[in-house]
Amino acid sequence: MRFREYANAEAFLAEARAFAASTLQTRAAEIDRSGKIAADLNTLMARNRFFALESLRESAPPLTPAERLPLLMALIDELATASASAAKLVLDSNLGQVQLLDTFGGDALRARYLPRIRRGESRASFLLTEPESGSDLAKIRCTARRVRKGYRLSGSKDWVTGALDRDLYLVVARSAEADDCMGLLFIDRLEERFHPKSLRIAERKSQLGMRGLGEHRVDFDDVFVPDDWVLIAPSRPAIKEIMRAYSLKRCGQAAIASGVARAATACAYAYARQRYPGARGGLAFQDAAFRFAEMHCRCTASARMVDWAIAEIVRGDDSGVPASMAKLFATETAVDVTNEAMQLCGANATTDSLPLERFLRDARMLTIVGGASAIQKKNITRRLDVILGARPAREPNVVPSPSFPLGNVPEILEVRKKSTPSRARRVGIPPARVTPK
Ligand SMILES: Cc1cc2nc3c(=O)[nH]c(=O)nc-3n(C[C@H](O)[C@H](O)[C@H](O)COP(=O)(O)OP(=O)(O)OC[C@H]3O[C@@H](n4cnc5c(N)ncnc54)[C@H](O)[C@@H]3O)c2cc1C
Repeated sequence: MRFREYANAEAFLAEARAFAASTLQTRAAEIDRSGKIAADLNTLMARNRFFALESLRESAPPLTPAERLPLLMALIDELATASASAAKLVLDSNLGQVQLLDTFGGDALRARYLPRIRRGESRASFLLTEPESGSDLAKIRCTARRVRKGYRLSGSKDWVTGALDRDLYLVVARSAEADDCMGLLFIDRLEERFHPKSLRIAERKSQLGMRGLGEHRVDFDDVFVPDDWVLIAPSRPAIKEIMRAYSLKRCGQAAIASGVARAATACAYAYARQRYPGARGGLAFQDAAFRFAEMHCRCTASARMVDWAIAEIVRGDDSGVPASMAKLFATETAVDVTNEAMQLCGANATTDSLPLERFLRDARMLTIVGGASAIQKKNITRRLDVILGARPAREPNVVPSPSFPLGNVPEILEVRKKSTPSRARRVGIPPARVTPK
């Protein structure tokens, strides 16, 4: 497969915007209806390098990590204006599970699987949630039992995005020997032809929104995982390392929410303006115009929260608070804004003649996936003493400033280009790669 060539990051984003506005928009309803991202669409996204932002280095001078992550967030936001599911596929192919594989996989695993993921030929699922444990990680029961040359994995995982289509699994499991230790195991379902009884994938869930990727329960019954596939051996600190990768993923979920809310606002405005045109342009009803003005303010604030959270992570934050703040604000905003957009457009908005009902359904999932809003609030609350100045910070670099900059991204990045290479590696940011904007 030949990758497209891009002169710089701006050219890349312009291409992404055009792709979202044309191809993806015309296919978004089909993705939602069929519950699939068709192979040709996947190939197009791979050709555009949406799964491989760092590959831009082949044709351009490198971007710093501080430029690459905002670019990824901008890409996810753009794609989400057309299809939240497609945006989530791009998120899942760059961060979270892929970041964990990149950070903790040995050279052989990385060399074998990362290029395949970046070409869109392989995809990875993350298996954390269980039927009895979503928010509460202490309730995880899936166990890894130490045996000669590996582990034996038993238990159930739930709500696994892409469980049926994706070949690679990253599974969080508790040690059978030490109850307070967890580890991260890798499975290539195609490499090891698992017996259907030892690895079972249940029926796809019939859910409200984010329907394009397919969520399933997965059961493991004494599945052998060789030592080569142990990304993090069970230990006490492992879960902290694993959850660290969640910060960037939460920013990505916030970026999806930002794109969905912006698209709903624009779509509803175009409809309302045509149905109730004002005498001198705009809308006939001042109340509706005020509500659109407020929706626009909230969408802009969501996008800026994502920029800010990413800048804080690049700067060295490892509290997880900025990511939780961005996810909480942007996803709750998306629910409110898509709901308001529907109300402003009346009955037609509740049918599939407009994408508004899909935007509302997709937004509704986002306050749950990747950690419910209550969990984001818990993360923030844990640091409130420091954030609100009642207690001094122990480490200078991990606490978000109470007043966050609302300037544009390049300005923010200019101030915060001090991230160290070692920290960048720990958050899974590859070394400097693409062209500066
Ligand atoms: C579209 C989608 C895709 C997903 N994909 C994946 C995936 O690929 N891999 C994966 O592992 N998981 C996945 N999940 C699961 C997701 O991570 C969980 O749904 C999420 O962590 C919340 O867990 P839960 O649904 O069990 O809710 P629960 O944990 O049962 O929480 C329900 C509610 O209880 C309250 N609550 C719970 N705990 C607390 C607390 N400590 N303090 C205050 N209130 C609390 C909150 O109001 C919360 O909203 C996905 C979910 C969705 C919707």
